[in-house]
Amino acid sequence: MKCPGCETDMMAAERYEGTYGRSLEIDVCHACNGLWFDGRESVLLTPGSTIRLFQSMYERAAAARATLVAAPGCPRCPERLVERSDQVKATRFSFLQCAQHGRFITFFQWLREKNLVRSLSPVELLELKSRVKFVDCGNCGAPVSLETTSMCPHCQAPLSILAPDSIAETLKEMQEKELARTSVKPELLFEAMTVSARLDRSLPTRPWAGDLIMAGLRGLFGVLTRR
Ligand SMILES: [Zn+2]
Ligand SMILES: [Zn+2]
Ligand SMILES: [Zn+2]
Repeated sequence: MKCPGCETDMMAAERYEGTYGRSLEIDVCHACNGLWFDGRESVLLTPGSTIRLFQSMYERAAAARATLVAAPGCPRCPERLVERSDQVKATRFSFLQCAQHGRFITFFQWLREKNLVRSLSPVELLELKSRVKFVDCGNCGAPVSLETTSMCPHCQAPLSILAPDSIAETLKEMQEKELARTSVKPELLFEAMTVSARLDRSLPTRPWAGDLIMAGLRGLFGVLTRR
């Protein structure tokens, strides 16, 4: 399928387990790090499948270099997609929607939708500024100078980090919902929770800090995938 985000032919279906034993085919583009969800597919993923999809996106995120087109069309009909935004707790996220067929969302915005990533608070921003001059935008990868802005000048995404508390909470909730079906072992989960709680306190002390979200996910998935 042609990716609505970057218009390459790189979008491919990946099979994930849905609720009530359903099998879902989620369209994933590793060229632009985007996802297409037909209808309500996003909410039908089991918690464990959600984690596995996070991981699939994360592992190929560094190689995703395709840029998004200006006015994407729906992959299922001739209509243009419409930019929409929504809010989970205090975190806003945006996506492109066809009211009939589904939605396209970037990995970065999907992490915001799942409340696993949040914007830096003014205090965190000041603290980061005192130690770091540049970071990479978590959404488009462009360098962002902390001297002049708290937002990516290229794609307008707010500077964001992993949200350790809600990661711990989400993983715990996923664990409880999945019960015996989960492939994430409880002892690893506990370790992941304590590692993700440490991420906030280990902000880098270099002129260039790279992508704060990817650095956080490296730590998190490093623990989750150790068997
Ligand atoms: Zn794409
Ligand atoms: Zn459509
Ligand atoms: Zn950006």
